[in-house]
Amino acid sequence: MITKTDANELQDYLADASNIAGGNADRLLIPETRDEVANAVGASEGRITISGARTGTVGGAVPDGGTLISLEKLDQILSINKERRSVTVGAGVLLADLQKAVQSEGLYYPPDPTEWSCQMGGTVATNASGARSFKYGSTRDFVKRIEVVLANGDDLTVRRGNILSNEGRIAFKTNSGTKISAKLPTYSKPSVRKDACGYFAGERVDLIDLFIGSEGTLGIITEVELALVKKPEGSFSGIVFFPEHDDLLGFVEAVRDESFRNRRDGSEGIDATFVEYFDPNSIALISEKFSEAPDGFAGAVFFEQETTEESEEELLEAWTALFERFNAAVEESWFAVSEEDLEKMKEFRHALPVTVNERVVRNKQRKIGTDMAVPDKNFRSFLGFCRAKLEESGIENVTFGHIGDCHLHINLLPVDDEEANRASNLYGRFVAQSIMLGGTVSAEHGIGKLKSKYLYVMYGERYLNEMAELKKAFDPDVRLGFGNMIDERFL
Ligand SMILES: Cc1cc2nc3c(=O)[nH]c(=O)nc-3n(C[C@H](O)[C@H](O)[C@H](O)COP(=O)(O)OP(=O)(O)OC[C@H]3O[C@@H](n4cnc5c(N)ncnc54)[C@H](O)[C@@H]3O)c2cc1C
Repeated sequence: MITKTDANELQDYLADASNIAGGNADRLLIPETRDEVANAVGASEGRITISGARTGTVGGAVPDGGTLISLEKLDQILSINKERRSVTVGAGVLLADLQKAVQSEGLYYPPDPTEWSCQMGGTVATNASGARSFKYGSTRDFVKRIEVVLANGDDLTVRRGNILSNEGRIAFKTNSGTKISAKLPTYSKPSVRKDACGYFAGERVDLIDLFIGSEGTLGIITEVELALVKKPEGSFSGIVFFPEHDDLLGFVEAVRDESFRNRRDGSEGIDATFVEYFDPNSIALISEKFSEAPDGFAGAVFFEQETTEESEEELLEAWTALFERFNAAVEESWFAVSEEDLEKMKEFRHALPVTVNERVVRNKQRKIGTDMAVPDKNFRSFLGFCRAKLEESGIENVTFGHIGDCHLHINLLPVDDEEANRASNLYGRFVAQSIMLGGTVSAEHGIGKLKSKYLYVMYGERYLNEMAELKKAFDPDVRLGFGNMIDERFL
């Protein structure tokens, strides 16, 4: 195990993509095996923060004192099982490396949180999702088994379906025989397709689902077994520009409806893998890097459709009919006919959050970014509300994201304290509106340290106490992920 205590060597580990300042730790431990993770926990006193690749955007990996444990050396792809379509990896394996390995076997891992430098343990801890969740769901839907080390150094194997809750409690034994029994929170999760807010809840909860999305507060994930799918035979995709915003929304709704209907009925036809949105400010911003981005449009939609040799032509016709029906600017739009074209489009999509973050750092600006999703039926009204308030505010803003899942990232970029205050108030208005419409305050980035007050707004005192009770059943001394998700006063 590598131990570092020199402040200079710790520096890179004190921040993540949230850019929140003030991260501090006494020491950094870098275990190389699961046993060493358990030893690292046993050898530390007080708070422990788990560090993945620090691509998280809400400060979950930013330490607030104590020990940092980095999983970066658990970076082995342990096995790929072609028949069972599964892959087993150490928690520190990067998503990019996993994708490369499974795709070379003709397999494919659908969750795609845009940023491929994240670690698989981090994606499970945050229940990462992203564009492809529109068709395939989030990380949760692919986790079959995890190995976990708890706050007391005990470890356990959690296999999907093996340990389920009963009458509101979940009980299990660790590998050393210690019994843990926890009362589960009683809230209902919002009726949205993506939600990364607080611990999983429901009628019959699987223990594995409690760890997924627990943001490093319940245990340290050391190994993960994930389900894979067969690599799609083919696909086509495009970035389609719309002169009128209403047409863009109509197009998205039609794609959503047709995709859901075809999936439900098992019919051939439009079934988008992802449906992504760029507002005019996003297109203008991205033209810094991609000068070919056209201007003067009300927005654009980036979509992908998987195909087979037999279905390709019919699907192209079906999509073309939709472009026509909703007055898309087909001439100016971009269509990918090769892997290279698609890679370029993905770079375009990825460059957006990256460019926003670069600008924030370069101009020493602040960024207030939303991650809310609302039920399908309320999306138009929610977006209309946000767009009107953004316009009224005069604050620089950029909106893009996963419109297929009714989930957009609005980035407010205030230039001074006065604007920052107003931006923060505006964020509060968006939170309130989203909750009022049955939405979630975080659809995919999680709560971390940045958004715990909004988790409180969403769930209130009673349910925060229930979450705290659950956490303390797993981690009685409140050591893991201090400051993440649940405000200190509840613990
Ligand atoms: C440009 C950009 C775009 C992004 N787009 C998306 C997107 O579309 N969808 C999306 O979901 N996310 C997105 N993200 C966020 C990010 O990539 C994910 O949250 C990622 O899953 C975090 O992985 P990580 O290894 O970087 O974890 P970290 O940031 O290091 O940690 C995240 C949290 O998980 C905990 N943790 C990490 N590893 C473990 C472990 N092994 N065991 C237990 N807890 C652990 C940490 O303590 C922390 O609370 C984006 C980020 C960037 C920078």
